[in-house]
Amino acid sequence: MNNGPADPVEIAASLIRCDSVTPRDGGALPALARFLDGRGFHTEIVRFSEPGTPDIDNLYARFGSKSPCLVFAGHTDVVPPGDESRWRHPPFSADIEDGRLYGRGAVDMKGGIAAFAAAAANYISACNGDFPGSIAFLITGDEEGPAVNGTVKLLDWAARRGERFDHCVLGEPTSAETLGDQLKIGRRGSYSFTLTVEGTQGHVAYPHLADNPVRGLTTLMDALLATPLDEGSEHFDPSTLEPVGLEAGTGAWNVIPGRARVSMNSRFNDLWTSKTLRAELERRLEAASGDMRHRPDGKQPIRWLIEELPGASQSFLARDEDLIGLLKSAVAARTGKDPKLSTSGGTSDARFIKDFCPVVELGLVGKTMHGIDENVPVEELKALSAIYSDFIERYFDFHTGRKA
Ligand SMILES: [Zn+2]
Repeated sequence: MNNGPADPVEIAASLIRCDSVTPRDGGALPALARFLDGRGFHTEIVRFSEPGTPDIDNLYARFGSKSPCLVFAGHTDVVPPGDESRWRHPPFSADIEDGRLYGRGAVDMKGGIAAFAAAAANYISACNGDFPGSIAFLITGDEEGPAVNGTVKLLDWAARRGERFDHCVLGEPTSAETLGDQLKIGRRGSYSFTLTVEGTQGHVAYPHLADNPVRGLTTLMDALLATPLDEGSEHFDPSTLEPVGLEAGTGAWNVIPGRARVSMNSRFNDLWTSKTLRAELERRLEAASGDMRHRPDGKQPIRWLIEELPGASQSFLARDEDLIGLLKSAVAARTGKDPKLSTSGGTSDARFIKDFCPVVELGLVGKTMHGIDENVPVEELKALSAIYSDFIERYFDFHTGRKA
């Protein structure tokens, strides 16, 4: 077993050199597995399949069999680099210039994985065989893609084998401006749907003979958008509802189309579930479509249909004050900052993990993620690893009563 100090920069560079644009792995998971094997972890690469989606590899690793089991979660897959000629350094080169490590995944989130892998390895070797619990890794290659053959299946797979997790830290790049300025303690839910209005196609010069669905759709959109869904809750911003696409028209100037459709997405807070949200949207649509003041031409109520996109996610909030407190203390000890508790931004795999154990997210500054020239300052990577180290120590001290 290798007991020398683990270097997060070296691990991050070895991962960045693997072209692991979803659904490819490019050798990233085997590289991480090799490192963890060398540190005494039991590792397993598991492949999941589903008709219509690419097969995806995932990595499960665990050191120790006792509880508590602290889990670190993340993804080695990355988004495409875009126009490679615009990159200052090739996106899979892991070049270091002026103290910055360049490459796709540097912050989202090979850097985060390297930081916690090094921290865990160093803690384990410092324990000298007297390890107080377990550390596990749940690493997927399917977070930036459809997320069908990733964390969801890996969690079920682990549960079927009797693996039990007590707490999880997800290493997504959650810091906003400077390292450790915020933790994510929850995420909003996401609900997508189309609203279709059926009309009657006809000649534009004879609108009384047709039923223009574009008129109906604008009335219904106004009914949905005029009043905010809510004003926010204790830990969440107000819920949003945004139109993201519109479809209507035959391309001809003299034809009233027969159908019009809008696509919408809502990011909703803990005052709603996708079910209660849908009920509220339907209530608004019902009231507006049946209000005959919108139909001065004596036509029938507006005919509409909502169709949901499958895979809506619910909002959630981590309610484990101990986990949040330990992470805050580790950040404060290493940076002097008191991180803000946030639930902003898009979704993450925390939405799946929260069904198995409390999960909080802490990682690098996300500013360059998904962009050209994604990079992380080497010092920031080391500082994050030091925060994780501090946290691991506090975690096991707290849960095993090693120290007062
Ligand atoms: Zn990510």
